[in-house]
Amino acid sequence: MDYLPVFLQLRSAHALIVGGGRIAARKADLLLRAGARVTVVAPRLHEELSSRTAAGELTHLAETFVPAHLDGAVIAIAATGLRDVNEAVAQAARERHVPVNVVDDASLSTFIFPAIIDRSPVLVAVGSAGQAPVLARWVREQIEAILPASLGVLARFMGERRRGVQRALAAGARRAFWERIVRGKAGTHLLAGDEPGARRAFEAELLVSQLTTSAATGGSALGEVYLIGAGPGDPDLLTLRALQLLQQADVVLYDRLVPAAVLERARREARRIFVGKSQGEEQTAQEQIHELMTRLAREGRKVARLKGGDPFIFGRGGEEAEALARAGIPYLVVPGITAALGAAAAAGIPLTQRGLAQSVTFVTGHIPEDDSLDWQTLARAGQTVVFYMGVGKLVPIVARLRAAGASDTLAAALVERATLPEQRVLRGTLAQIAGLGARAGIAPPALLIVGEVVGASAATEAAPMAVPPAAETAADLIQPI
Ligand code: SAH
Repeated sequence: MDYLPVFLQLRSAHALIVGGGRIAARKADLLLRAGARVTVVAPRLHEELSSRTAAGELTHLAETFVPAHLDGAVIAIAATGLRDVNEAVAQAARERHVPVNVVDDASLSTFIFPAIIDRSPVLVAVGSAGQAPVLARWVREQIEAILPASLGVLARFMGERRRGVQRALAAGARRAFWERIVRGKAGTHLLAGDEPGARRAFEAELLVSQLTTSAATGGSALGEVYLIGAGPGDPDLLTLRALQLLQQADVVLYDRLVPAAVLERARREARRIFVGKSQGEEQTAQEQIHELMTRLAREGRKVARLKGGDPFIFGRGGEEAEALARAGIPYLVVPGITAALGAAAAAGIPLTQRGLAQSVTFVTGHIPEDDSLDWQTLARAGQTVVFYMGVGKLVPIVARLRAAGASDTLAAALVERATLPEQRVLRGTLAQIAGLGARAGIAPPALLIVGEVVGASAATEAAPMAVPPAAETAADLIQPI
């Protein structure tokens, strides 16, 4: 180890920054967030620093640096961009045994700033001893992606209950208890923003822990179900919450629409059960799924119910949620990117656009027996209509739209297996699209998109492009170290 990683308590401590530029401002922000009293020595200030000075948040000395500025300081930063001044600060600080960081110069520094993830009170710091700051930043991004945004909320929730648990449980039982809170329902609910649910799960867990003689009973009796939207197919389009819950699941129930690449993101040990339905036997199958979810949850399992796209868009998620509620099984719904949004982005079709489409409708192309769809409304100009499940019914859909007044030359597209490597996009007019689809052998899953936006997008269709690397965020506080 070239450096000792520590977390420094700076509340009300005196910190000195020499330099008044943008980097000095970032350092000042960091020190102020840690509660330090900050003095900036610089002839001139960056506007962010001058506004903070005006607000009384820090002290500004419009002077050139002299070693006496270090009096009383417990930490010093040189960020002047002038080598001789930085050296003078570093030397004076070393003589007084004040830890000093010289921006961009590890050799003059006695400490360096790590790349940080701030989910206070949880902090993650990553360093590379100044050798590869870009690598440290990459490591931080990897970690950041798997840490829930509300980790800090969970840490505070646990902090507030520490004493109570100390009183309620014997020392030997506490660790296993807290692990069940972090990995179990209380943690899951809290991270999903459901504080009342978390509190209930916490109380139940505490009760169970108190009642059981052995503290390591591996959790309470009732499991729960996560109704998770798996997105249109590309695993990178899963939400972070979907990933986190897939990593916790004991069992994964999945549909025909969920590709292997998405399933691979689930916990390795999780049992995977295919519950796809073939048409015709949907009713019984749906009930069997309800029964299976209920039984697994009653056995104490955490069940991830993965559904293509979004669970609440043509996904029968509503029925499943209702069945779970009736059975008294706790559940969470995690939204997903619905096929229309995935297809629109992947095919470069904006679903609404000024002057072309003021609204967008998602409609089933599985025309009901009584044909209760309002074709007059669907055929109206100035909107985009996306038909799900319509591949087998292209001819009647087009016929009904035309009969209801839609123009033969209105633009339409078929997007098959959107966002997957085999994606195909066909464009044509309303009069052509069914024939085009039939000749190309378009098969489910595919969407029919109808509206002027499709025509406008054809001209601007971009070549598929690699996803750009994540942009730097303001929280990106790593310094070249
Ligand atoms: N809940 C899903 C929809 C399920 S209904 C969602 O929100 O996307 C099934 C229909 O969705 C398919 O018939 C097809 O019309 C559409 N679909 C799902 N995934 C698709 C994909 N990758 N590309 C095109 N259409 C898709």
